[in-house]
Amino acid sequence: MADVNCARCGITREAAGRVLPGPLGDEIEQRICAECWAEWTQRQIRVINHYALQPVRKEDREKLYEFTREFLNLPTEGATPRT
Ligand SMILES: [Zn+2]
Repeated sequence: MADVNCARCGITREAAGRVLPGPLGDEIEQRICAECWAEWTQRQIRVINHYALQPVRKEDREKLYEFTREFLNLPTEGATPRT
């Protein structure tokens, strides 16, 4: 597995790899380390429970992807960077 300079922790280490489909999956593959991804997989269980998300539903899945981006420090595409 290739190393990445992780967008979340700033450390260069083993990449998370292909963990999600689509554009978010591309970004994670290129910019997120395996450890931060592992942390998110634990955290997202609580997020799903807290918001009662059903990832089989498209809108809930999109919401979950937003939380994923927020946690991993990957801004939403087209979003204006906060100054
Ligand atoms: Zn990381």
